Amino acid sequence: MSSYPYADRYPVLRVLPEEGRDRESILNELREMATAEDSFWHTGKASGSFYCGDTDHYAFMSEAFGMYGHMNALQRDVCPSATRFEGEIIAMGLDLFNAASAGADSDPAGMITSGGSGSILHAMLAYRDQARAVRGITNPNFVKPETGHPAFDKACHLLGIEVRMAPSDPVTAQVDVAALEALIDDQTIAIMGSASNYGYGTIDPIAELGQVALAHGVGLHVDGCLGGFILPFGEQLGYPIPAFDFRVPGVTTLSADTHKYGYGLKGTSLLMFRNRSLRDGQYFFQTNWSGGKYCSPGIDGSRSSGLLAATWAGMVATGRQGYLRYAKEIFATAASMIAAVRSHPELRLIGDPTYLFAFTSDEFDIYHVNDSLRSRGWRMNGLQYPNAIHMAVTRPQTQVGVAEAWAADLAVAVDYAKAHADAPAKSSGIYGGVSGGWTEAADDFIRNIMSDMLDKHQGLPPL
Ligand SMILES: *Cc1c(COP(=O)(O)O)cnc(C)c1O
Repeated sequence: MSSYPYADRYPVLRVLPEEGRDRESILNELREMATAEDSFWHTGKASGSFYCGDTDHYAFMSEAFGMYGHMNALQRDVCPSATRFEGEIIAMGLDLFNAASAGADSDPAGMITSGGSGSILHAMLAYRDQARAVRGITNPNFVKPETGHPAFDKACHLLGIEVRMAPSDPVTAQVDVAALEALIDDQTIAIMGSASNYGYGTIDPIAELGQVALAHGVGLHVDGCLGGFILPFGEQLGYPIPAFDFRVPGVTTLSADTHKYGYGLKGTSLLMFRNRSLRDGQYFFQTNWSGGKYCSPGIDGSRSSGLLAATWAGMVATGRQGYLRYAKEIFATAASMIAAVRSHPELRLIGDPTYLFAFTSDEFDIYHVNDSLRSRGWRMNGLQYPNAIHMAVTRPQTQVGVAEAWAADLAVAVDYAKAHADAPAKSSGIYGGVSGGWTEAADDFIRNIMSDMLDKHQGLPPL
């Protein structure tokens, strides 16, 4: 498939070097690759992924990481600082998501995980185990809007939970609450809503879902992995963002990724619980092991204190005003980019988005637009059913001139799409990137892509 990255520049390693290499030459090699790869998203033409973009902030967090990267957050007797970092990240998060308004019968708590998928997995584990212990549920199911992130499907797959999928309204890109409610039965452990969803950037009717959850006695997870660290600031700025956090009755867990709009290094996410008892049910301890008494608060064993330190440092250095300022720039840039989309009658915006917007076309395959944008250096995210593309606006897009370049390149792309409407488009939707030339996601094909990433060492010429 693809070629081996950097084989043309550096020797390919297949065994541990006999003698260790000189550090300076290694660092130079790493710097060359990082500089080349960073130069792309610095243009502001990559959707999502590089939420912060401030290289000084990255360097600052990396310095914090460097002091603690070798420390094990599992061993608090020698690393008590991890307890401070984790506790204060959770406290800052609970405050931001209004846990204080959760009501007298709440007992808010949180945990730090390795990312959005980690937060979702731990939430699902907590729901499953509590449902088994308290409600005697042995055949658990979970109901999600179709637009809910695949991390829920993955978590359910890993934990033996059946997933039931509720449709979303094609115009608003919000879940059909009545259809979701109809899927709930006596084995349902929880439901979810997104604030916002990955595909369209729209927010499900969380208040209504909260009422449904309360009426049926099930949990409600709000997936704020993406929107968590930007929507609260949009609300403060006066954008029409409904409450989606612990102010909303019925919301029992909420995930928010520090490694997305929290502007942290990759590798952390915050999971919060309305009630401590839900979280505590998924702790693991084995007290009669010959190797000693073992306990861990989540699925991970050893964890790097460095990520906790860097996340803590990044949040403290940004502060409320920093998050607010960046949100203001992001929302304004997104509004301008959305206006460019609306200016083309051939394009149709999906739902009523704010910082992340998706659009399609009823006149041509939108992947023609994507093809043209790609040729001008843009990296959009591709969606399907219907074909659509999205832009998650991040700080790199807020640089001077990017929104203007978008408007100009989009106009060219619409012309290109009209001219090529009869031919098949070159690109199509695959999460995390845009691949070429396939629409039917055949399992074998996907398996080969995955293996291709991991098996580069195979098929190389012999030593
Ligand atoms: C990114 C994302 C996730 C999953 O997070 P990872 O950090 O990639 O594991 C979950 N939900 C939404 C809405 C997301 O955008």
